[in-house]
Amino acid sequence: MSNIETKVSELTYQTWDSSPQDLLRVVLNEFRDKVALSSSLGPEDQVLTHMLCEITDRAKIFTLDTGRLPQETYDVLDQTRARYGVEIEVLFPEAQQVQDMVRREGVNLFYRGVDLRRQCCSVRKIEPLKKRLASLEAWICGLRVEQSTTRSEVARVAVDETFGLIKVSPLAHWTTDQVWDYIRTHDIPYNALHDQGYPSIGCAPCTRAVQPGQDIRSGRWWWEAPEHKECGLHLDSDGTLGHKES
Ligand code: SF4
Repeated sequence: MSNIETKVSELTYQTWDSSPQDLLRVVLNEFRDKVALSSSLGPEDQVLTHMLCEITDRAKIFTLDTGRLPQETYDVLDQTRARYGVEIEVLFPEAQQVQDMVRREGVNLFYRGVDLRRQCCSVRKIEPLKKRLASLEAWICGLRVEQSTTRSEVARVAVDETFGLIKVSPLAHWTTDQVWDYIRTHDIPYNALHDQGYPSIGCAPCTRAVQPGQDIRSGRWWWEAPEHKECGLHLDSDGTLGHKES
């Protein structure tokens, strides 16, 4: 068993029954400045930001600015900074990579096929994330088992085969209702688009509202088959489907 697998086993055993907050405390204590929350500013990540800021005033939180986000996402970013007085590190893609891709394929390449869409996600999301994760031993994210069929095996503590570190998902077993109850109870800032029929929000050109009762992810990359709807942030090491877009 590798060191990272051993650590995951220890943490899993130690935190088996613990609340998300207690899991966060253990992880912060274990990894200190080598653990950070990767926030897409979605509801789960807002819950985690709230929990982290209650535990420590030195929470490390970062988010990816793809350059194609809706204004409402920038609004909630600033509202969150103001509410918690926390510094949220904003990661940008490499300008040269974006320029080269756009010159070759156009600005709306993602509509023309899964490969081009993945290329855009790779340049705008995965590369900046990979660079940031290289400085960490563990990252925290808002994955939940319930969110989609492609996320059915989300462990609270796991080896992240894609990026070679530990992935912690404190809300893995929470339901959507639990997330929103927590947000309302604690008056946590959230993206205004959620009140306009957008259950899952990513980049503006790849997100649309859904009808009541529709699958929560049917508003993301709606022109693709469901099994393709991942951006690679949570790809398995063999490049097969992972668990979450952001
Ligand atoms: S979600 Fe759409 S715009 Fe955003 S990085 Fe992926 S393909 Fe590009």
